[in-house]
Amino acid sequence: MLVSPNGTGKTIIALSGLLPLAYEKDLKIIYTCRTHSQNTRIIKELNKIFQFLKKNNTKIKLNGLSIRGRNEMCLNKTLLSLKLNPRESMSVCNDLRKNNNCIHFLNLLKKKDRVETPVLLAPDLFNKPVDAEDLIKFCKDEKLCPYFLSKFLLKEMKIIICNYQWIFSPYIQESFLKFIDQELHKFILVIDECHNLIDTATDVNSEKISPYSLRLCLKDLEMYRSPILMQSFIKILMNLLKNKKEYFKGEEQEVKPDIFLEVIYKKLGFRDLIEFKNFIKDLYDFSFSIHEEKIANGDISRDFVGSLAEFWLKWLKTYLLDSYFYCYNLKEKKGKRSISLEIVALDPREITIPILKNVYTCLNLSGTANPYVYNYLIGLNESGKSYKGIIADSPFKKENIKAFIIEGVNTKNDNRNPAMFKKMNEKIDEVLYCTPANSGIFCASYKILKGLVSNGLELIVKKNNKKLFFEESGLSASENASMVEDFKSMSQPPNNGAVLLGVCGGRNSEGEDYPGDFMNSVVIAGFPYHLPTPRVEAKIEYYNKVFNKQGWNFAYLYPAIQRANQASGRPIRRLTDKGSLIFMDSRFINKYQWISEWVKKELELVPDKKNAISQRLYPFWNS
Ligand code: SF4
Repeated sequence: MLVSPNGTGKTIIALSGLLPLAYEKDLKIIYTCRTHSQNTRIIKELNKIFQFLKKNNTKIKLNGLSIRGRNEMCLNKTLLSLKLNPRESMSVCNDLRKNNNCIHFLNLLKKKDRVETPVLLAPDLFNKPVDAEDLIKFCKDEKLCPYFLSKFLLKEMKIIICNYQWIFSPYIQESFLKFIDQELHKFILVIDECHNLIDTATDVNSEKISPYSLRLCLKDLEMYRSPILMQSFIKILMNLLKNKKEYFKGEEQEVKPDIFLEVIYKKLGFRDLIEFKNFIKDLYDFSFSIHEEKIANGDISRDFVGSLAEFWLKWLKTYLLDSYFYCYNLKEKKGKRSISLEIVALDPREITIPILKNVYTCLNLSGTANPYVYNYLIGLNESGKSYKGIIADSPFKKENIKAFIIEGVNTKNDNRNPAMFKKMNEKIDEVLYCTPANSGIFCASYKILKGLVSNGLELIVKKNNKKLFFEESGLSASENASMVEDFKSMSQPPNNGAVLLGVCGGRNSEGEDYPGDFMNSVVIAGFPYHLPTPRVEAKIEYYNKVFNKQGWNFAYLYPAIQRANQASGRPIRRLTDKGSLIFMDSRFINKYQWISEWVKKELELVPDKKNAISQRLYPFWNS
């Protein structure tokens, strides 16, 4: 594991370090990232190596491909118009292909049959590292299916760049490996920004059902003349969810999985759990017959009944394990409340250890992860391989970083009052006054964000002659991207800079980079603890059991400090960047040892006095 700040070249270090091993042992490198933009960045680095090898006339053949999911690559209008989740898309795509209804796929098969290897479909493109975006463009021009072309190419590629799910979702991994035609032990696995893997590994192992998916199940069961009992089962579940949504006012409520099972099977008239288990198996089998009949009729099959049966099979398999938590989850978006019934996996190791055990070797990279916690949560030590963790020295010049913890402000419970928000705004005013161009303010929660706004933040931003940009929770990805672009453009003259107001753990405080003047200062407003929901409490309790009473540290403190570390690192993305990082909550004082190494060594405590921030920050930016 290598922990080193952004801008220190972790990717190129990893690639140049691992490629000789991959060639020597005839292995492939699977480079996993969280987002598509990260994948594109890896391809760019790989191309630098490719150009270097070419310039030096080496005979080494270096190719690579970044791949995306079906929904991001498909060109079929019918599938795209349905806006499905990945599992449903797979099912619909299967049907379209079986019925010869996808012209892009048919074209691809025709062309592929004419060449010895799919690389020869476009040798100039595929004999070097290629990004998914370029492959899609080629397929649009040639009317081919990009998704299957990328899959056919996998076998030929030395390096495959993909999102975590391709390896860590058991369901996706199976078909992925089939296309590569290799076992896991033939891979070197790189996990970039590996701190994200902790959540991904539990997310891919969790399941949920909603009234929407139940309604579609019922429709299918009615249309395909299922036994009445199956339809009653759906109606019982729908009623339970409906009542809960009506009478439950909170956000999450724990469900005792054994009691819930008993309620359901008794309502269905079964004597015991065995009868219910058999019933779920029948439901699962019935989903196959629906599927077959739909295909025979030339219909598109969205496998809702199969997904529901899988949900209950998982419930039955896990309900006695303490590594799972069961709940009703209520969400409100744009004034609309929605409810789901969820199976929440608590232990990332259930997914990660079997993979770590099987791959040839694994390299974990991060700018912010705490190797001690990560090692426990992911199970590096339990993978049967030797483990080495390296925390690289900070490469940044001391004169380029100012990091403060501010005394006298604290957003703990009762402190969230107008007087505290006004005090925080006064301190933010000092930060903005000293900052030449752009600043980011990432709040611990939307509540704190609202508290700052309703206590005068907008006026303060205006007074400093800057423009305020809000990160709103309902914004689409493209709306948010254009808002961020506008924010960045305000850093250039004749503009006087802008302020981006968002939350820690949000897309702009983690997925986005702000080098140069795009963000000179960043304020972490409040300590970003998650709400202590029943699921967080269940995780703390479980971690206490399996990680030697470290529940609070691993399940509550670590994710919070990780959010703060991520947000505070936004302005510093290159060795030459200069930035001021302001931790505006006195609770950081006691937890400073958890802050990223490269920031920790620059930390300064700022007393709760008027102008104490300006006195330190003004010379930093204006000397
Ligand atoms: S074959 Fe390709 S283009 Fe056709 S539906 Fe499937 S993913 Fe889409």
